[in-house]
Amino acid sequence: MDIMNALLFRDKGRFDLTETDGPGAIGPKDVLIEVKRAGICGTDLHIFRGTHPANPDIILGHEYAGVVAQAGDSVTHLQEGDAVVIDPNVTCGTCFFCRNGMSNQCDALDTGTTLGIFRHGGFARFNVAPSHMVYKAPKDMDMTAAALVEPLSCVLNGVKNAAIQPEDTVVVLGAGPIGLLFTNVLSHLASLLIVSEVDDLRAGKARQFTPHVLDPKETDIGKEVRSLTDGRGANVVVDATGVLMGDALGLVAKGGKVVLFGMNSAHTAAIRPYDITRNEIQVIGTYIANRTVVPAMTMLHQGRIDVEHYVDTVLPLDDIYDGFRRLGLDPETGERTPMDAVKVLVKP
Ligand SMILES: [Zn+2]
Ligand SMILES: [Zn+2]
Repeated sequence: MDIMNALLFRDKGRFDLTETDGPGAIGPKDVLIEVKRAGICGTDLHIFRGTHPANPDIILGHEYAGVVAQAGDSVTHLQEGDAVVIDPNVTCGTCFFCRNGMSNQCDALDTGTTLGIFRHGGFARFNVAPSHMVYKAPKDMDMTAAALVEPLSCVLNGVKNAAIQPEDTVVVLGAGPIGLLFTNVLSHLASLLIVSEVDDLRAGKARQFTPHVLDPKETDIGKEVRSLTDGRGANVVVDATGVLMGDALGLVAKGGKVVLFGMNSAHTAAIRPYDITRNEIQVIGTYIANRTVVPAMTMLHQGRIDVEHYVDTVLPLDDIYDGFRRLGLDPETGERTPMDAVKVLVKP
């Protein structure tokens, strides 16, 4: 493979948009993908800041979709020209968890297998992925929508793990990329949906799905939630930020559920376990996707997620630093920047 431009992770605080060799050798069970769209994720910002692990010198980008440029010799379910989406968390297929319906807990994931985090990912024109993690998309699948399959598949897994029902009253804490997807999906499902978000742009996007978008800087969220729920609190509180478990426990009704989605491995929470036992709260962790890639792809293909409203911009790969700046990080200086986007995609 020729030289191509790519965004590499070098070390904590150091990204490198540079020319690099191709994506690596294509094994018999691999697929060479021409990347069409790749999304910048909050995890990429965590990687930069050192609050999420990653391997040095790998090409970043774990939310991507494209077209098969070449299929390895023993690949049977894909061929050149197929539109595809990628589940980047490469599983082994043979461990206890893979064989018992919990491939998102695959032992191999502990060793770091994720494409775009521990192995080369999608912030480049080409990528090599193991074919069992590559899903054929409908021919007419919009590639911007296809790049959202990964985050949506994780959100759908959270909805499933929490078994959210139509009678539930739900609070979503944070209307970032993940919180907004929860909000979009739950707007079809929860009987009452409340979103807490400090940022105006994000709050505005959430308001499309529910009138109950609260700013915790200006409102007493606990009071508002109780007044909307006959004093009980919400049945389900989703912490889409990863740092608000304590707040979530203050908003949840007796017998309710707190759903933890965040990916900040550096954060610890001070909570009072008594609040959980006394009120019989279920604390539900949810991690990546489990049997939710195809449903996510179908939802996006059917237009059931408002992609246009959700994605702020699609930039050329060469402008990816601008994308990070719009999300609050200048990768060239490491400084924080004013956020003016929620979801930014690049096209290599
Ligand atoms: Zn992500
Ligand atoms: Zn496994």
